[in-house]
Amino acid sequence: MPEGNVESKIGNVTGKLAPLGAASTPGNRVRIFDTTLRDGEQSPGCSMNTPEKLRMARQLEELGVDILEAGFPIASTGDFEAVRQVAQQAGDTITIAALARCAPADILRSAEALEPARHARIHVFLATSDIHLEHKLKIGRAEALERIGTAVRLARQHVEDVEFSCEDSTRTDRAFLCEAFQTAVQAGATTLNIPDTVGYTAPREYAEITALVRRAVGEGPILSVHCHDDLGLAVANSLAAVEAGARQIECTINGIGERAGNAALEEVVMALRVRHDLMPYTNGINTELLFPTSQLLSEIIGVPVQPNKAIVGRNAFAHEAGIHQDGVLKNALTYEIMTPQSVGVPTNMLVLGKHSGRHALLSRLEGLGYRIEAGQINDIYRRFSELADRKKVVVEDDLVRLMQHHEQSLPAGV
Ligand SMILES: [Zn+2]
Repeated sequence: MPEGNVESKIGNVTGKLAPLGAASTPGNRVRIFDTTLRDGEQSPGCSMNTPEKLRMARQLEELGVDILEAGFPIASTGDFEAVRQVAQQAGDTITIAALARCAPADILRSAEALEPARHARIHVFLATSDIHLEHKLKIGRAEALERIGTAVRLARQHVEDVEFSCEDSTRTDRAFLCEAFQTAVQAGATTLNIPDTVGYTAPREYAEITALVRRAVGEGPILSVHCHDDLGLAVANSLAAVEAGARQIECTINGIGERAGNAALEEVVMALRVRHDLMPYTNGINTELLFPTSQLLSEIIGVPVQPNKAIVGRNAFAHEAGIHQDGVLKNALTYEIMTPQSVGVPTNMLVLGKHSGRHALLSRLEGLGYRIEAGQINDIYRRFSELADRKKVVVEDDLVRLMQHHEQSLPAGV
């Protein structure tokens, strides 16, 4: 593959910052809060045991996530143990978070699990929409405010860094949503999360809600977003909220999570990087580890990534059509808005297919070290086309086999 000059045009817009404390001002730095091990793990077929969570946590730390939500300690002994061990192995550039309902037992269990962490956050949540209050919690609004205040104060007795979420924010009465967040701030919450728990909102509405909460609580607390992808809008909604003042995005690798999943970390990060001209925000993610991290998760949970998945899918950089491949070889900017290298896709993963042209085939063969004489091209291309017809997708190994056969068929001495 040729070296694209996309990256040099974009420049380095990421950069690792020191861990974030309660006093951080919003600025342009967006915190990446990974919940692969909590919201992601609780989705069907995505469960992980403790050694697997530890492996994933190490990778996420290397990737550069700011906050890693490791689990929901009250849920089970296994979850508690996993959070505790993730907290134990974590270094000092990452914050480990644990989830808790507005109940003393949950908060105490989270605090206990987080004890070994150098930077710990308790993430307290309570549903605030009328439908959840009436049918799930069976309490009124006054009782909800009472519980929020008590829970956040208790969490603050154990850690400095407390996040509060109004579950089902986007279906909560707006005035009450503001009141709930104001209560949490008065009790000591430092980050306020506005989850679109049911994946119901749309970008403009979500931006309006974020701006409304900002006005209600002032500049102090960091606003956070947590979007689900039921309508395929999780990433778009997250970015809209950032433009309206949110400075933390909750997301997961490969977008795994409840139902249709959460906002995909790799998509959020690359959108912010590639369109830095539109969205001038920074983050601490080492983008070259996006693909390896996606592959590791997929291997651990045994759930493959869909081939056309943005950023990390097998075909995300495939350029199979001959006219596209030819353009990319002449200048990557013709069809590439980012290079495969920038997200850590190894070039041997890039596929060829029956629509690939001679130029693309030759370039790949040369990349593998073959020197092709002009007189050989037609024969090699014919064999390649036959193979591509049969196999649909041709990878590096196939090309090596194809060339072995080609060499064997040449007259002796050539
Ligand atoms: Zn969620």
